[in-house]
This record gives sequence, C-alpha cells and structure tokens, in this order.
Amino acid sequence: MKQITLAVLAAFAIAGTCSAAVKDGTYTKTVTGHNAPITVTVDIKGGKIASIATKDLESPGVGKVAIKKLEDSVIKNQSTNIDIVSGASVTSFQLLGAIKDCLKQAGAEKGDFNKRITDANKAPVTERADVVIVGGGGAGLASAVSALEHGAKVIIIEKLGFLGGSTNVCGGALNASGTKYQKALGIEDNPQKHFEQTMKGGHNVSDPKLVKVLADNAPSALLWLEGMGLKFNPKVGAATGALYQRSHYPNPAGGNTYVVTLEKQLAKYGPDRVKVFLETPATELIMKDGRVVGVKAKHKGQDVTAVADKGVIVTTGGFGSNVEFRQKVNTGVWKEADLGKEIGCSNIGVAAQGQGLQLAEKAGAELIGLSDIQVHPNGSPGTGLMLDIKTSGRNRLFINTNGDRFVNEGAARDVLSKAVFAQPGSTYWLVQNKLRYPDENAIDLLSGRTMRDMLAQGRVKKAANLDELAKIINVDPARLKAAIESYNQVARHEVEQDKFGFKATHTDDRPMVEGPWYVARKVPTIHHTMGGIHIDTGAHAVNAKGEIIPGLYAAGEVTGGIHGANRLGGNAVADLMVFGRIAGSNAAQAK
Ligand SMILES: Cc1cc2nc3c(=O)[nH]c(=O)nc-3n(C[C@H](O)[C@H](O)[C@H](O)COP(=O)(O)OP(=O)(O)OC[C@H]3O[C@@H](n4cnc5c(N)ncnc54)[C@H](O)[C@@H]3O)c2cc1C
Repeated sequence: MKQITLAVLAAFAIAGTCSAAVKDGTYTKTVTGHNAPITVTVDIKGGKIASIATKDLESPGVGKVAIKKLEDSVIKNQSTNIDIVSGASVTSFQLLGAIKDCLKQAGAEKGDFNKRITDANKAPVTERADVVIVGGGGAGLASAVSALEHGAKVIIIEKLGFLGGSTNVCGGALNASGTKYQKALGIEDNPQKHFEQTMKGGHNVSDPKLVKVLADNAPSALLWLEGMGLKFNPKVGAATGALYQRSHYPNPAGGNTYVVTLEKQLAKYGPDRVKVFLETPATELIMKDGRVVGVKAKHKGQDVTAVADKGVIVTTGGFGSNVEFRQKVNTGVWKEADLGKEIGCSNIGVAAQGQGLQLAEKAGAELIGLSDIQVHPNGSPGTGLMLDIKTSGRNRLFINTNGDRFVNEGAARDVLSKAVFAQPGSTYWLVQNKLRYPDENAIDLLSGRTMRDMLAQGRVKKAANLDELAKIINVDPARLKAAIESYNQVARHEVEQDKFGFKATHTDDRPMVEGPWYVARKVPTIHHTMGGIHIDTGAHAVNAKGEIIPGLYAAGEVTGGIHGANRLGGNAVADLMVFGRIAGSNAAQAK
C-alpha cells in the first residue's frame, strides 16, 4: 500500500535553526492526554534529539498513531514546528508541548528546534483507479480489501491523519449467528433470529431486504476476517443492547484490531494497486453524464483529483458529532430530547460530521432515516467518550443516585438511555465487581485495558465491600444492597425475571456477591446515526425513485435503512464488513 505522504515528500524548512547549545541528558514531562496522562521522555545527545519515549494510554489507531508519527517527525526534522495529526489534535498538541518543555529543560531557547516543516506544495495532483473510496474507516477499508480481491485498483481518500476512523475506538463487537463460537457455548442462533431481533429492536422501520442481507452475511464476514488472520475471542458476549448473545470480540480487544487486520491486507497488494491519501477531505463527487466518475479533495490546500473508472464508494461514517445537523434532523426516536452540545459524542469528533451525506445527496442520492439518532448509556460525564468500564457484557448494574436499580440492564439502547434520562441528574453509577475483573492486571475483553490502568486514572473507583461502595457513591447502603439483591435473585434463578424485565438468559449471568466492587459515573452520549444514504442490497446508492445512481456506492454508518430507529449493539461492525464487502466487490466488477 502506498501512503501518499504529501507532507513528507514536499517538506522543506522555511525558517529557524535545527539545534542549539542544549545540554545532553534525559528530560521528562507529564501532560494531560486525550484519555489519560502522557509522560514524555526526550533524550538529547550531541545537541540533537536522539530519541523520544512516551508512556501513554491513548487509543490504539488514533492517539497512539499520532504519537508515533509526531515522534518520528520531530526526530527526523529536529523540529517541533510540525503539523499535528488530524483526528488526534489533543494528543498531538499535548505531545508537542511536552517535547518542547523537555527541550526547554535542556536549555533550548525560543527558536531552537523550530524550523517550520510544511507541505506547501500547491501543484494539483490527479490519480486514477478503478475504485475510489471516500473515508478510510472500517467500511472504507472493508470495501477496499474487497475491491482489491476482485482485481480493482483502489484509491482511498481519508480526511484524518490515520486510517480507521471511529472504528478504531469501537468496542469491536460483531454480531453473527450460528458461529462455531456460539455452538461451543451451546448458544442456539441463526440468521432468521438475528434478522427478527434486528427488525424488532429497530422498531420495525428498517428495510427488511437490507436487514436480511446483514443477518445472512454476517457469519461469512466473520470467516472472511478470520481468513485475513484476525482472531476472535471464543467468549461470545452481548454488546450493550445487542438483545442476544451473538457479539464476537476480536483478540486483541477493540475495533482497532479490525483496522490493523484490513490495513495489513491492503499492504499485501502493494503501491501499484492501492494508494492512500491521508489528511485529504473529499469536497465533491465528480459527475459526468449522470454517472459518478471521481472525487475532488483537498490536501492542506492542494487540489487532489481521484478519477474512478468503475465506481466511487462513500464510507464517511455517521454525523453524531455534528451538533447543528443532528439537532436539525432529530425528529425521530429522540424528538423530545435536546441533542445539543450539552450531550457528548462517543465518536471521533472531526470524523463524524456527515460530510459524505452532503456529497452523495448532491450527486442525487436519497437520504433516509436521518431522524433516528442513537443515544448510548455508556458516556463519560463531560465528554461522552466511552472510557473505562463498559455497559457491554453482563453482570453490570445501573444504579441511580438514590442507590436503586431502575432498568433491565439487558434492554435495547433507546430503552436504557431513556431510563437514564428519567433518573435524578440524568446520570447513574455503573457497578461491576470481581466477576468482571477477577484480575486487575489482566486486559479486559471489552475495553482492551486493565482495571489497574482504569483505577489509576481516577474515573473508576474501587470498594472492598458494599458498605464502602455506598459511601463512595453517597447512597444508603441498605438500599444499594437491596438493589443488588434484586438482580442476584434473578441471576440465582430464584425468580424468572425482576420487575424491570431482566432475565438471566446469558451464559455469563452470575450473582454479584464478592468484592472488590468497581464503579464509574455514566451519562447518555450520542453514539450512532441510523439514517443516511439510501442503498439497495448491492450497496448501490439510489435516488428518491429507487433508481441506482451509476458509479455510486455506499457502506457503513453513512448509509440508512439497516438499523431502523434503534441499532442493536454489535450490528454496526457486522454492517461495515457485510456491506463494505458487497460495495467493494460490486464496484470492482462494474461495467
Ligand atoms: C466508542 C464506540 C464504540 C463502538 N462500539 C461498537 C461495537 O462494539 N460494535 C458495533 O457494532 N459498533 C460499535 N460502534 C459503532 C461502530 O463502531 C461505527 O458505527 C462504525 O465503526 C462506523 O464505521 P464507518 O466505517 O462507517 O465510519 P468510520 O469508522 O467513522 O470511518 C469513516 C471515515 O470517513 C472519514 N471521512 C469523513 N468525512 C470525510 C471526507 N469528507 N473525506 C474523506 N474522509 C472522510 C472519517 O475521517 C473516517 O475516517 C461503536 C462506536 C463508537 C464510537
């Protein structure tokens, strides 16, 4: 795979000095990162930056990629005056600030290590391929691999400084039915059941033809990924609001594992078959005689044109971070709620802006289902990011600020989030115990993090017993114990279901009795946008009359019609892989 690093190719020094009379030695600075503090150590040798080491808990595929890129660039250019990585701006600014601080400690003065590195090359670039993909997230990468498998030459246009988009930060749950992993656990499942639950969970407003394609093809998408070397954890779970035990998690945990797997697959085809433009937002789809024939984009002011001989696939993700747009279209399942900026978003903000919707609409595509936006109960207060302990999986309780349970924790996401909004302060405590974290040093299946790290960051609190837990969350211990007992009665199968409708149907369900207990405060967060580009079962974009727009395809969160009014947890990753694969193969084989 050829990454068109226009920045590096055209980089030149504008002004400033490279190094200075700095004192050799090792200097350290700790700064606030995006997820957690970052400690940076800079080694100066012979007046030059010899190495940079970083201790961090930034997200794989996002902050971690930015750190590596910036460290390499600072060392190569002996300058901190470099461009940040789009999509990881907090990490970028903080890291560069920490490096500058270390240099200052070494005696550097203003202007030292400060030559401007820029790619101010304004000469327009034109590239040609069979298939051009707009958006290099999960759906874009799946489309690219599929198109390559079908013989196409591919260009990926990505606005961020890395591939993978919000898929990098996702939990990685992939719903598929009838798999060998389910069979090994004795879980009965089949595509028809997956179809029915997806339809019902989505309030029966999804397009059944698309849902059928999703449910029927999710098992083979899982095998497709395994064929690329991706490993799944044999412990099948249930993502939040999955409604059934069919969520398959990659190993290592987290959505970045899909991104890494697909990127490795792309790399196998080499630079003649696949080119990637990073930091290059698409601005327009090029039309000729009613057909989409390419994409116009900008790389830091430079015009980039990607000509598509067979098709353009739009895979730009959702619009959850576009506050103005989401408020404008919010007339569906959350119409009574203000989805303004007070509510955070779990996605990468700069990615989830819905630009692909506008591009496709201008090319004639119909946009459907925009009014239904997904609110998820697992947001961190203040940001809406999904940090720390998760609502996915089982044996985790929702406790309000009075110390009571208030919802069936296994319910759909809209039910969960609406129940949270009805609680005092629209917040709750997510309570887990030793059952979920038997070893604080072990990496959690769902978050890819250790409990030790989560505790160190301070957002998760630990209690030895329920009295201590009650003190931490400031509730009556008797009330808290009663709440937990109400769950345990079901988990012990003493009663079939509790007053909220919770049933212990999952193979992981156990009574929660033993400390340590872990707790974090959570709030609802904007998570997914169910509406988008109207596609048919072949991932062709269609207009309001249902007619195919020649040359235009779409896949992933940018599309509409699959998840109805409420997406089931774990169905988005299945969607990316299933429809990305279809879009790539159909575009590659287009006449
Ligand atoms: C925290 C979190 C946890 C989640 N967990 C799960 C889970 O466990 N299971 C599940 O099924 N779903 C989960 N989801 C949902 C799921 O991850 C997303 O719906 C899915 O990853 C979206 O993939 P995508 O490829 O459509 O979009 P993305 O992965 O966001 O990729 C879109 C890409 O397009 C790029 N782009 C946008 N506009 C332009 C433009 N104009 N030009 C060029 N590029 C552009 C973006 O920068 C981005 O890289 C989760 C989501 C989040 C945020």
